[in-house]
Amino acid sequence: MADTYEVFAVNYGTHTGRRMSESFLGGDPHDTSGKLSYYVWAIVGQGRTFVVDAGFTHESAERRNRKLQYLPREGLAKLNIDATKVQDLIVTHMHFDHAGTLDDFPNARLHIHDDEMDYCTGRCMGHEPLRMAYDVEDVAKMIRRIYKEQAAFHDRDEEIAPGLSVHHVPGHAKGLMAVRVNTKRGHIVLASDASHFYANMEEKRPFPILHNLGEMMESWKKLYRLADSPKHVIPGHDPLIMARYPAADAKLEGMIARLDVAPKG
Ligand SMILES: [Zn+2]
Repeated sequence: MADTYEVFAVNYGTHTGRRMSESFLGGDPHDTSGKLSYYVWAIVGQGRTFVVDAGFTHESAERRNRKLQYLPREGLAKLNIDATKVQDLIVTHMHFDHAGTLDDFPNARLHIHDDEMDYCTGRCMGHEPLRMAYDVEDVAKMIRRIYKEQAAFHDRDEEIAPGLSVHHVPGHAKGLMAVRVNTKRGHIVLASDASHFYANMEEKRPFPILHNLGEMMESWKKLYRLADSPKHVIPGHDPLIMARYPAADAKLEGMIARLDVAPKG
């Protein structure tokens, strides 16, 4: 039996009243019916636990007018995962909603793409539209972890454990990574922000925060190539995830979904 994992989406926050133009290039700025969900993901199997992304803090929720249901570590605790004991945290990219609670994972090795550290510490951060999704304090914390030899850099598509690999999917951010995981339903791909919503990749309607539009569109193709079927690609911020996938357990309905089982529809 090949190495397989259980995969969970932990929905820790939301952004409602979102203008369509904030989610789709060319979207209607007057239509504020948009909703975006925030997730971290847990991958459990082979005696190991991998966490994908670290979400954001109460302070940044307030400053950016987002709703935080609970901290990522509190969501993970509902799965009996102790953040302080996590050994591997895959940071798909350094945006505030993915790298905001690195301190809650003090013993984790932080997996990051070379291009992302170049990007978030380089000349592009001199431009407000490229910088606005980053928080300099998160970047500073990451740099401290690098100096403590707690970072694992990736510069190509790489297997980090049997049946678990990271893949460069640039466009939204320069060093964005997706995560491919073998599960009992086949290989699923956690797209993170390579596609925020199903509609971005399915209808080829780009998300408006981007570093390179051409690369973003190529990365959608890569997501589909890596996954066993289009239904095996999991977008990074779509509220539909919680409707399409079963809850990890009855008490966790609407909070934590199970992604290694087939979607309902
Ligand atoms: Zn994001």
